[in-house]
Amino acid sequence: MVQQTAVRAYRMKPMTPEVRAKVNLSYTESLDLRERELKCPHCGRYIASLFSDSSGHFKLKCPNCKAVTTYNLGYFRRRRCRRVGKKN
Ligand SMILES: [Zn+2]
Repeated sequence: MVQQTAVRAYRMKPMTPEVRAKVNLSYTESLDLRERELKCPHCGRYIASLFSDSSGHFKLKCPNCKAVTTYNLGYFRRRRCRRVGKKN
């Protein structure tokens, strides 16, 4: 399932079969990926979900504090803590 909530009908336009196939393929490809949250660096609110293969830059406006911020996803990855004296 791609869309969890109903899309408002007044702004809806019919999706072409090609676009629908791309949406379904994107969802299917994402099933094996790990997902993480991106939070606003200004206010800490959740603003986007990122998959483990996300990379590059993107610009996003926070719906809470309205700050427009450019993100390099390489700098916003989860970093694993390395424990001293414990082998992994
Ligand atoms: Zn914010």
